[in-house]
Amino acid sequence: MSTAPRVKTSRDAERNAAERAAFREVDFQPPVLIAAQVARLIERLRHARAALAARPRAEVVAVLDRVVAAWLDRPERLRFAAERVARSTGYAPAMVHTSLARTLAAWRGGPLRALLDGLVGSHDAGSRADGVGEATPEERSVATPPELVVALLPGNTPGLAIAPTFTALGLGSAIVVKSAHGEPSFAPLLAASISEVDVEIGAACSVLSWSGGTAAIEEPLFAAADRVVVYGRTSTIEAVRRRAGERVIAFGPRVSVAVVAGPGEGFPGDQARALAREIAFLDQRGCLSPQALLVDRRVDLHALGAALATELAAVELEWPRRRLSFEAATAFRRAVDTVEARVVAGKSLALHGGGQEPWAVVVESESELLPTPLDRFVRLQPFDGVEGLVSVLRPLAGVLECVGIDAPPDLARSLAHAARRAGASRVCPVGAMQDPPADWHSGGRPPVLAYLTWSAADEGGEQPARPAPGEAEGTPLAQNAHPIGPSPRETEPRPVADAAHAVDTAGVATHLASAAQRAAELRERFLRHLAQTSDAPRAIVVDRASGSRIWDLEGREYLDLLAGIGVASIGHAHPDVARAVAEQAQRYTHVMVYGEDVCAPQVELAERLAALLPDSLSSVYLTNSGTEAIEGALKLTRKSTGRSRVIAFDGAFHGDTTGALALGGNAVYRKPFRPLLADVTHLRWNHPQSFHQIDDKVAAVFIEPIQAEGGVRIPPPEFLPALAERCRKVGALLVFDEVVTGLGRTGRWFAFEHWPDAIPDVLVLAKSLGGGLPLGAFVASRERMRSLATDPPLGHVTTFGGNPVACAAALAALDVLEREGLVERARRVGSVLAERLAELVGTGELAQVRGIGLLIGLEFQTTAAASRFVDRCREGGVLVGWTLHRDRVIRLAPPLVIARPEIERALEVMRRALEG
Ligand code: PLP
Repeated sequence: MSTAPRVKTSRDAERNAAERAAFREVDFQPPVLIAAQVARLIERLRHARAALAARPRAEVVAVLDRVVAAWLDRPERLRFAAERVARSTGYAPAMVHTSLARTLAAWRGGPLRALLDGLVGSHDAGSRADGVGEATPEERSVATPPELVVALLPGNTPGLAIAPTFTALGLGSAIVVKSAHGEPSFAPLLAASISEVDVEIGAACSVLSWSGGTAAIEEPLFAAADRVVVYGRTSTIEAVRRRAGERVIAFGPRVSVAVVAGPGEGFPGDQARALAREIAFLDQRGCLSPQALLVDRRVDLHALGAALATELAAVELEWPRRRLSFEAATAFRRAVDTVEARVVAGKSLALHGGGQEPWAVVVESESELLPTPLDRFVRLQPFDGVEGLVSVLRPLAGVLECVGIDAPPDLARSLAHAARRAGASRVCPVGAMQDPPADWHSGGRPPVLAYLTWSAADEGGEQPARPAPGEAEGTPLAQNAHPIGPSPRETEPRPVADAAHAVDTAGVATHLASAAQRAAELRERFLRHLAQTSDAPRAIVVDRASGSRIWDLEGREYLDLLAGIGVASIGHAHPDVARAVAEQAQRYTHVMVYGEDVCAPQVELAERLAALLPDSLSSVYLTNSGTEAIEGALKLTRKSTGRSRVIAFDGAFHGDTTGALALGGNAVYRKPFRPLLADVTHLRWNHPQSFHQIDDKVAAVFIEPIQAEGGVRIPPPEFLPALAERCRKVGALLVFDEVVTGLGRTGRWFAFEHWPDAIPDVLVLAKSLGGGLPLGAFVASRERMRSLATDPPLGHVTTFGGNPVACAAALAALDVLEREGLVERARRVGSVLAERLAELVGTGELAQVRGIGLLIGLEFQTTAAASRFVDRCREGGVLVGWTLHRDRVIRLAPPLVIARPEIERALEVMRRALEG
């Protein structure tokens, strides 16, 4: 807790350095771009790139080493990321984890890292990487790496962003990674972790999400990029080429196969296990899973099928994953079949699973394969000897990526040779197919070299080669619209689990003019028909909000440091809340007025709150809002004490119904509505000398432990305990209004926990309680609450108070707060944020920064300076807000989930706003 202006000491600095190190990025929502924002983004990246290019490359590479270490050496962190990706994609967490770990390990001691090292050497020493002879043109070209790389990734391969990101940064290039929104993939987490290790280098990497083909975004972005790297289907590559022309480096559809050979009487379990695991990666869209098994005729196909069936069933248990819908599975199968059709001719054995189906069946013809609801399925195709393998592989020339071989050593060597002759980019043992470096989708050339050495003449080499005339075209499925066939990995329909986070900007960006018109119209109707409470409403025409961000109808993105005035603690539109609301709304919404029927969400919520509070606060009355909860508390304290006088404080805000308004500590707001509730006395805040006015006629003293609207006023340590003591002495009840400060905002579950000697008799909650839905509560002892039930009975009623849907949302929000450790996070992040802001004191008339958890006040010397600050922040895309009773104080109350890069961005915007 801090009260005074923050003075930096070396101990503070040390502590904060440690805190910053602990301050981990856990959340990041992909932002939306529109043309103007793209221009700003490019500008920002140019600066970031200039800073990056000024750093010695060896130093940048060392930072990237540390980023990899931050993942690989902190297993719980990698596990967390894997679970996150798995949750939104439906993949098995263990499989995503394996996939990420293998891909990250490709950097550590892997060939790309070695290549960059070599380039560093050649750059620094002006000679060949290996120190021998002349530098090759590729090595020499490192002197002019691209300034800006744009990488377009399909949304289904966890970890695919690692290669382009690391290689670009390693070369001193800024990079924009387009991460598909179906996968709140590893990419944003990776970018955040780079910033965490080195803000400057992190600033050169931007992970974004937009609908592919959005002209307002892609035209300026591609025009600015020196290289556009695209992984995707042929049609995508062609579309990108139309915009980015010669600068495109494309990684098109690829096929991987496993080759099984040997004497093969039976088929040993461990071989089958390795194969099964590689196959299993396919439906998690692992990059290099075999899409067909090519099996030496001497191997007993049925024995192999049976062994694989057993092992695949075991893998299924170990790596349980989302099942595809019938439609999705069929579409996936079609895509895979199209590719596989180039391998398979005639009779083959198909492995598949799902539902009650057996794992292995023999299919007699192609027609038996389509359509199928199966989502795991691999063909077995026999071949005769080494030459037979060459002819089976021939149709794959140009698209053959990885060949995994399972054969005795001598045979393996000649099969590997045959696979290379057929053009495989990578040949390895089965069991290592997912291993680096193949996961970099090198297509024979690591992207790092592709970035550097691309030229128009290279283009053919980068494109997936089309089948030679008379080859694939001659196969039965050659009439298919896609002669090569889209990559199954990027054709599978997107999982729907992430719908709540999905960002679709196409409409916004491509209809910018009409969006502006619609926004203007809506604003006008808002002013005309919605009762206005201010001359200058913020009037953002909200399109949607997610996490810490709000997007307006025209696609502008705002970082929300106000969180709807402290409501969206777990972030806007949290998917868990959305789910809970939907489930409860389908079960029942309103059945009876509050307090009559037993509604489980109300009961559970009351129990959960009581469990977080001292025993004296165990009975919860649920309301619709904060001000209603204050009204209830007013009635409760008067009724249960039989006294009428109430004490409140100057600067206080307790709501706007007449009772709550009567307690408000600003006469300007009370005056027009007089006469208000009688018998209310206002005392000076933090002025124990006036405590004598709290006497035995007083029913209750209402106070916010930290005044929010009063200008984020944090009392000194002795004030609230002294007040509690005085109340005890005269028998007055102490009511803490924790509408703003409750539920984690100050770094404790409740602000009163900062003062163990000041436990309230009545606690009032609202704002973040409902997870974004309207909900309030006042909490007291059971005995005291009883007074509302008698003399008269039904002494305080509400129809909608504690609405079951709102309570379900509140429960989901509590889960999120607990699960994600957000209370503790508020303390840590708030401390870092306040500290960083305190460094700006003295700039732009910023006089003082005071904060507790993520409730922070910025006090300016003048109202005009405060006003300028708010306006400039908004222009920079950051929303901050006034406090009602102190117009020189600006309040920050961001979502407790606000991510590290978001804070960095907000700080940068605030710094610029102060500097003018
Ligand atoms: N109490 C405090 C401390 C508040 O800040 C507010 C609202 O800002 C209220 C009570 C009233 O809550 P509501 O707006 O939900 O009625």
